[in-house]
Amino acid sequence: MNAVRMDWSREEISGIFHSPVMDLLHRAHTVYRENFQAGEVQVSSLLSIKTGGCPEDCAYCTQSAHYDTGTPGQSLLSVAEVMRKAAEAKALGATRFCMGAAWRQVRDGDEFDQVLRMVREVSGMGMETCCTLGMLTEEQARRLKSAGLYAYNHNIDTSEAFYGKIISTRTYQDRIRTIEVVRKAGITVCTGVILGMGETDEDRVAFLHQLAMLDPHAESVTVNCLIPAQGTPLQDRPPISPILLVRVIATARILMPHSMVRLSAGRQGLSPESHLLCFYAGANSIFAGERLLTAPNREVSADGAMFEEFDLKVMAGDLARAHPGGAGSPAGRG
Ligand code: SAM
Ligand code: SF4
Repeated sequence: MNAVRMDWSREEISGIFHSPVMDLLHRAHTVYRENFQAGEVQVSSLLSIKTGGCPEDCAYCTQSAHYDTGTPGQSLLSVAEVMRKAAEAKALGATRFCMGAAWRQVRDGDEFDQVLRMVREVSGMGMETCCTLGMLTEEQARRLKSAGLYAYNHNIDTSEAFYGKIISTRTYQDRIRTIEVVRKAGITVCTGVILGMGETDEDRVAFLHQLAMLDPHAESVTVNCLIPAQGTPLQDRPPISPILLVRVIATARILMPHSMVRLSAGRQGLSPESHLLCFYAGANSIFAGERLLTAPNREVSADGAMFEEFDLKVMAGDLARAHPGGAGSPAGRG
C-alpha cells in the first residue's frame, strides 16, 4: 500500500489525469480496494436551513441576491423543523446530516446560537453533523466543535486562476483560510469542486493539486457537477461528459487515497451506468434525498433501485461504527 502524499507535483497530477482512461480506472480502483471495503457507499443528506438573499455573487448559485433566480427565500428554520428533517433522513439510511445556510460568513448572535442548538440536537440523534455556513472565525469554529459538529464543508469550487471568473466578492485565499480555521478547531474538513463551469483541463489539474496539497487531506472530497440554474450567469452551460467526471473522481481517489470521495450535486443527469463508473473509480459517498439545498436531487427510489442492482451497501458512518446499533440502518432504498 502506498503512503499518503501531500507533495504531488502539478506535472505528476497532469500525467495521472490525462492517462488512458482504462489505465486511470484500473489504478484508481486498485487504490480504492486497498483502502475501503468495495461496494460500500456512505449516504449523506443535505438541508438548506436558511435560503436565499446571500450577498456573495457566486455565478452558479440560485441563492445569490445578485441574480433573479426565482428561488423563494426562507429565514432560518426552527430547531424542531431541522430535527424532523434529520429524523426523516436517518430513517432513509443517511448517517451524515449536512445543514447549509446562504450566508457569506457566520455572525455571532441569536441565529448562530440557534445553529449551535441544531448541531447539538442532530449530533444527539447519533448522526454525523456537517455544516456549511460560509466563512468562520476561530472562535466560531471552536463553538461549533464544542456543540458536537463533526464536519464543516467549504468548497474551493475551482482553480485559483479561474476563481475570479466565478466569484468576485471573496478571494480563493479567503476560502483556504476558512478551511485552515476548521482544521485547527479539530473539525473534519469537507471540501471540493464544481465541474462544468467553463474551466479547462489545466484548471482541473490545478484544483486537484490544491486539494492534494492540503495537509492532512480533507476527510471528505466533494465532486459536484454544475446544476445550471435559470437567472444565474452560468444558466446556459452545457453538461460535462460523464467520462470527464470519472477522470476527476479517479484522479482524486489516487491522490487522496484515504478521503471519502463524494459524488454530490448534479447526479440527476447521470445514468446508472455513469454512476457505476464513478463508484468503480472510487467515489464512495453520495447525497441522497429529494432535495439538495434548493435543487431537486435524484429520486430516492431510483437510488434504491441502483443500490439493489449494483449490490451496494450503505456504509455505517464513523459515529455508528463507534456506537453500533446507533445510526446507519441499511435502508437508503426507496
Ligand atoms: N454559503 C455557503 C458557502 O458558499 O460556503 C454554504 C452554502 S453553498 C450553497 C454550498 C456549496 O454548494 C457551494 O460552495 C457550491 O460548491 C455548491 N453549489 C451551490 N450551487 C451549486 C450549483 N448550482 N451546482 C453545483 N454546486 C453548487
Ligand atoms: Fe452565497 Fe454560498 Fe450561494 Fe455563494 S454559494 S451565493 S456564498 S449561498
